[in-house]
Amino acid sequence: MSYYVTTPIYYVNGEPHLGHAYTTIAADVLARHMRQRGEDVFFLTGTDEHGEPVAQAAEKLGITPRELGDANAVRFKELAVALNATNDFFIRTTDPEHMAKVAEVVQRIYDNGHVYAGHYEGWYCPRCADFKTESELVDGNQCPIHRIVLEIETEDNWFFRLSAFQERLEQLYAEHPDFVTPQNRYNEALSFIKSGLRDFSLSRQRLKWGVPVPWDDSQVIYVWIDALLNYYTALSYARPGEDLTDRFWPATVHLIGKDILKFHAVIWPALLMAADLPVPERVGIHGFLLLGEHKMSKSLGNVIEPFRVVELYGEDALRFYAMREVSFGSDGEVSPEGFETRYNTELANEYGNLASRTLAMIGRYRDGVVPDAKPATEVAGEFEGLRQAVCERLDAVEITPALDEIWRRIKLLNRYVTEEEPWQLAKDEAQAERLDEVLYTLAEGLRVVSVLLHPFMPRTVERLLEALGREDLSLDGAQLGAVGGGAELGELGQLFPRVEAEASAA
Ligand SMILES: [Zn+2]
Repeated sequence: MSYYVTTPIYYVNGEPHLGHAYTTIAADVLARHMRQRGEDVFFLTGTDEHGEPVAQAAEKLGITPRELGDANAVRFKELAVALNATNDFFIRTTDPEHMAKVAEVVQRIYDNGHVYAGHYEGWYCPRCADFKTESELVDGNQCPIHRIVLEIETEDNWFFRLSAFQERLEQLYAEHPDFVTPQNRYNEALSFIKSGLRDFSLSRQRLKWGVPVPWDDSQVIYVWIDALLNYYTALSYARPGEDLTDRFWPATVHLIGKDILKFHAVIWPALLMAADLPVPERVGIHGFLLLGEHKMSKSLGNVIEPFRVVELYGEDALRFYAMREVSFGSDGEVSPEGFETRYNTELANEYGNLASRTLAMIGRYRDGVVPDAKPATEVAGEFEGLRQAVCERLDAVEITPALDEIWRRIKLLNRYVTEEEPWQLAKDEAQAERLDEVLYTLAEGLRVVSVLLHPFMPRTVERLLEALGREDLSLDGAQLGAVGGGAELGELGQLFPRVEAEASAA
């Protein structure tokens, strides 16, 4: 089965921040998990480089939009690398292959009769590169996102007949209750559709920085149309000499933030319908990570800056925190102290400690070889259905609940150590068989949770599995008892070292 996951393409008019890292991490978790299941995976991310905001930002800096795009695209590529993201391609909307394909699809929409010449007047936010309706404006005539005062703009340009797709969109939503998740976002998109769709202009007259309209070179294609099409165009040229479109289109899931819901859940499927192309299976919406008022952290300052966190704590700690702290799909607060608390309690004390204790006890009591035994019944019962539950959660893009499922078992294994007291069993020769069972159950439980955790914390898990002498990452093996004893344990340093604030203060 093919699985195609995307992030939005990131706008190059600023530096990468936690919000970008967040979606990339989530998409990487899904991509890695699906590869573990043996699926044929394609994971796309990239940068959005056209439109008025980029042109304006470049002008301010006294450079060309292309130069700004080049400089900032590098930073977004570096972010993907820093996060250990396994994207299969990095698209830039200034790629000539993308631009040619955009023109081709827009021409098809025109040829199909869905475009007409019109006159547009409305509240325009240059930072959104979008017109706002009266009901969206806040505090008089401000952009609800950017809080800047908007002005009425008028233009003659080309209009897309969005209104003609209302019925087909309603039908899509009726037939595919998972088209948008979570449910509250589905409801929001559907009620927007039901409130009546208005045609919108798919070209811009004043702007020069974009893809020219194929039948009218006095206009460029509206940056959002250009951007949305990246999900489709990338497949046609990501592999030189090979077209992956048939293999991966339609996309399995587009991950996006809630602020761009309307574009992805309404306009995007309508455009695809207009071009006679299949629509994606799902649009998975996440909330915002909110930065409240917090006291300064000595090592991280007062914001979670992704490059800084990775430099000090490693990418796995950031990946874990981002997926754990705020339930994916909802808004929630993040902070440097919150990060440090999760790092010290859950990563170091719970997972790291379980690993080091298990390895140390097998080293001490069984010469570093995992004993051969059956998993303890009480633990086996708790692990039953775990793999299936994680798969179902991730199929539904419920990333935080999937991680919760795994973490519950880590806590359980820690309780099991405390209750069984292997150090007491080791004092009594008559308890040798019992000790074998306990140590095997711990090693095997640790292996199973680690295989399932791999998409979240790949580098850490690889180190740990290597030390456990069991490096198979396939999900088939993620069941308690799937692997017997006999593995020789290797060395495992500290997985989550304490970060000295003094030494690293910014
Ligand atoms: Zn705006």
